[in-house]
Amino acid sequence: MKAAVIHAPLDLRIEDADIPAMGPYDVRVRIRAGGICGSDLHYYLHGGFGTVRLKQPMILGHEIAGEVMEVGAQVSRVQPGDRVAINPSQPCGHCRFCLDGKPNHCLDMRFYGSAMRMPHVQGAFREVLVCNEVQAVPIPAALPLEKAAFAEPLAVCLHAARQAGPLLGQRVLVTGSGPIGALAVLVARQAGAREVVATDIMEAPLAIARRIGADIALNTAGDPEALTRFKADKGRFDAVFEASGSGVALAGAMEVTRPGGTIVQLGLAGGEMTLPINMLVAKEIALRGTFRFHEEFAWAVHFLATGTIDVSPLLTEIVPLSEAVRAFELAADRTRAMKVQLSL
Ligand SMILES: [Zn+2]
Ligand SMILES: [Zn+2]
Repeated sequence: MKAAVIHAPLDLRIEDADIPAMGPYDVRVRIRAGGICGSDLHYYLHGGFGTVRLKQPMILGHEIAGEVMEVGAQVSRVQPGDRVAINPSQPCGHCRFCLDGKPNHCLDMRFYGSAMRMPHVQGAFREVLVCNEVQAVPIPAALPLEKAAFAEPLAVCLHAARQAGPLLGQRVLVTGSGPIGALAVLVARQAGAREVVATDIMEAPLAIARRIGADIALNTAGDPEALTRFKADKGRFDAVFEASGSGVALAGAMEVTRPGGTIVQLGLAGGEMTLPINMLVAKEIALRGTFRFHEEFAWAVHFLATGTIDVSPLLTEIVPLSEAVRAFELAADRTRAMKVQLSL
């Protein structure tokens, strides 16, 4: 079986890998579609992010879907031939946070393609994956696998939306219109937001944000004062999704958030930020983090399967695994790419 293995920054190789053995509750899946995520790109470009560093070769990838080939003796959830989206998170199920209903904070989380622990958790840009049956979520025949592979990033944004509280009737700002920001636009629209404004520093993602339902999409590089009109009366927005990881964007967002509004920080700058804390205090702004997802993965599959959320405008190109380096170079170019996927 072939897999996309990162060895060091800009050293991504297609290599043979062993197919792991199967246990009674495992399923063997022929992976067909794999979306390249921001974290995959960080490993490819920089060998990691923040304090997380690549210390050994690692198969990348965690946004995946495929076809069930074989199931263990005790598997009841899926059968061979089923098409599935794969949930890449494997919480332990018995730590303090798993038992408290917050498995995204599991103390012993194993998440595909992550160098957070040693040995690294190998990822899923591989032809064959063996996973526990609970990770395999069946999808209807009408849902193409490339759309099913959006379940993971969509789950991230659904979880983020819950941090913001009900969005029905709300005015929403999304700063940073890459794949996560764009999905946040789709989720805010679906959740009944009255107004959705998106920002970015490049034109290409803004054009997509407009296409998928942003009422206004503003280039804050071309016009640093683009958000000024929203500062009136202590700020216009009830909720902000900060998906750029930029301290400048977050500080700007605080100026246009209304008193009592909520800012959900999705983007990771990988470092530290300086914030106008006086504004946070005086406007009673709630600044919230959001980390991964749990039950939202099944919701994401549902919204994709029913067409309630249409991610097709986000898919830039599907590139064969043999051209993985070209796929990563394309994904890193925001003038050309929103979401690039590998076909495996
Ligand atoms: Zn991802
Ligand atoms: Zn746990």
